[in-house]
Amino acid sequence: MTRPNISFEFFPPRSLAASFRLWDTVQALAPLAPGFVSVTYGAGGTTRQLTHEAVTTIGTSTGLSVAAHLTCVDASREETLEIAQTYAKAGVKDIVALRGDMPGGGAFSPRPDGFGSSVALIEGLADVGEFNIRVGAYPEAHPESTDMAQNIAWLKRKFEAGATSAITQFFFEAETFFRFRDACQAAGIDGTRIIPGILPIENWKGARNFAQQCGTSIPTNIAQAYDNAARDDCHDLLALAQCSELCSDLLDGGVNDLHFYTLNTPDLTRDCCRALGIEPELKLEKVA
Ligand code: FAD
Repeated sequence: MTRPNISFEFFPPRSLAASFRLWDTVQALAPLAPGFVSVTYGAGGTTRQLTHEAVTTIGTSTGLSVAAHLTCVDASREETLEIAQTYAKAGVKDIVALRGDMPGGGAFSPRPDGFGSSVALIEGLADVGEFNIRVGAYPEAHPESTDMAQNIAWLKRKFEAGATSAITQFFFEAETFFRFRDACQAAGIDGTRIIPGILPIENWKGARNFAQQCGTSIPTNIAQAYDNAARDDCHDLLALAQCSELCSDLLDGGVNDLHFYTLNTPDLTRDCCRALGIEPELKLEKVA
């Protein structure tokens, strides 16, 4: 089997301890030679500066290609494009362009002078002409979409506006991804440009809550298995087996790219990659 392309998502640290944790995670995962890594943008743009610092520090310290997440929330078009230009000047040409959510929850409400949707943001970034633009995609439909057809029609508009690939929300069964990919293909979207987002489950309670919030359905047998694993004190074993099996099923179904939501914790992601036969390749000269 050919080596799949892998990528890792991190979030920007908000404390010194969190900075060390992120750095340990980057050091542990960078040798696996990801095609890119990405850094999230806090809800409501609350981590604007921290995201920028994490993106540029990871890029210059490791030489990895870094994608910066950017949302439309609480910023004017001018401010948003200025952030993007600052990235371009720093050599960061990869953007994950998102609408984002309001800081306190509730319906998205753009600033009158801001980008009103992900499509508007993608168009604005595409006009600059310097960026590789990635976007979000929702295999079980975004909670705000009216139905799957509308969810996919909107994704198609994001590609037409200039996106080059889409990273999905996490899901538990490969079949969920395949159904979505097939429906996207039928709607005229190139399925190879849809990258499955994988959540290695370090913490079942947190993953269950997150799934509820973002509309990811949890199969009964998986919920039962995690409950039993907690009782029998073998959570990590189950999490590795479940994550590896999901990735393996995806690769068997023709997927070439896997994007891991690391939550700034390296062990499960690294072990899962190794279970898939993805061994360290890079010797990082710049990493201590
Ligand atoms: P969109 O895809 O633009 O919209 C979501 C759905 O709403 C669409 O499927 C569509 O059905 C409907 N919709 C929205 N606008 C319209 C419209 N004008 N007309 C018709 N239908 C519409 N959030 C952060 O705050 N920071 C991050 O760094 C971050 N990173 C993410 C990374 C990935 C890979 C993913 C999948 C999500 C991420 N999110 C992040 C969460 C994301 O901001 C939320 O899911 C948000 O609610 C939707 O953003 P979007 O750009 O994907 O939305």
